[in-house]
Amino acid sequence: MSEDLEYLKQRIPLLEYLQRHNWSAHPAGAAQEFVGLCPLHRDSRPSFYVNAHKNLFYCHGCGRGGDLIRFVQLFLNLPFRQSVAHLEQELMPAPASQLLEQTLAFYQFQLHRHSEATRYLEYRGLHDPTIIEELGIGYAPGGNLRRHLAGWGYPLDLLLDTGLINSHGRDAFCRRIIFPCGQAGRMVNLYGRSIGSAFPHRLLPGSKGGLFAWESVRDFPAAILVEGLFDLAVLWQAGFRNTTCAIGTHLTQPQFHQLSDRAGRLVYLALDQDENQAGQQASHELAQRLANVGVIAYIVQLPAGHDPNSYFLAGATAADFTRFLQEARPL
Ligand SMILES: [Zn+2]
Repeated sequence: MSEDLEYLKQRIPLLEYLQRHNWSAHPAGAAQEFVGLCPLHRDSRPSFYVNAHKNLFYCHGCGRGGDLIRFVQLFLNLPFRQSVAHLEQELMPAPASQLLEQTLAFYQFQLHRHSEATRYLEYRGLHDPTIIEELGIGYAPGGNLRRHLAGWGYPLDLLLDTGLINSHGRDAFCRRIIFPCGQAGRMVNLYGRSIGSAFPHRLLPGSKGGLFAWESVRDFPAAILVEGLFDLAVLWQAGFRNTTCAIGTHLTQPQFHQLSDRAGRLVYLALDQDENQAGQQASHELAQRLANVGVIAYIVQLPAGHDPNSYFLAGATAADFTRFLQEARPL
């Protein structure tokens, strides 16, 4: 066990892990020592030191320190074993990540070759080709991915492991619009929205990744959080490029950390207004959690029964939506 842990720590240097999660550091003077803002507490002056040679960190602000696994425990609020599992997952995906990228490229190629797919995008109010391309949207017609990937030399075992092919040997995604899910610059999953009568939402087994397109959203002083990728797509199309998406109302720990990685960030929660109040309740819980870590969360109340997608489909304009943002209030 301890040998495995040493091996794990060697393969993911602490500094590299931190940088992959957007920690910016400066040389601290001593050889191989770096300093930056502490990711573990609200830090205004850099007090978090990393010794890249020893693979250890120490924060003079909150007094915490240790190795990579200790950092993950504190950063993601996970017990020891799950922290190790999280790190193993970070290591694993190289071939899987490449496979997902190749799969997505194939699905993107299919999108404009199937009129039912482009019709569906129009039906959801998405028509700007630039946005469709930027979001990386593709289409899985079903029944032809396995042959395509076999042609690239991917072994069936890997296709089964990632869940792209099910145990009956069929494509897992069939008649679905596909969006890529990334984390720290790597593709970790695919989301498929059914265009037919099958269950609407589908992800491959494993992590749903970080917040959607977070790299391009994180630098805005205010972010809009939605629960569906079509909500995000229509908002981007209407000019709200500071919109991100958690795919569902439940934020994973890494997603929550992304949203709260900067004190003072303003977050507009634009979740669905469900009749059973599920969206409203999720909004309140999330707003409370965010407030606890210094993020100002405003709850956007769209007209009853609407989510951002349906609201724009019903004819709303960017100005209408802006009005709801302005009327939003903190808890
Ligand atoms: Zn600290």
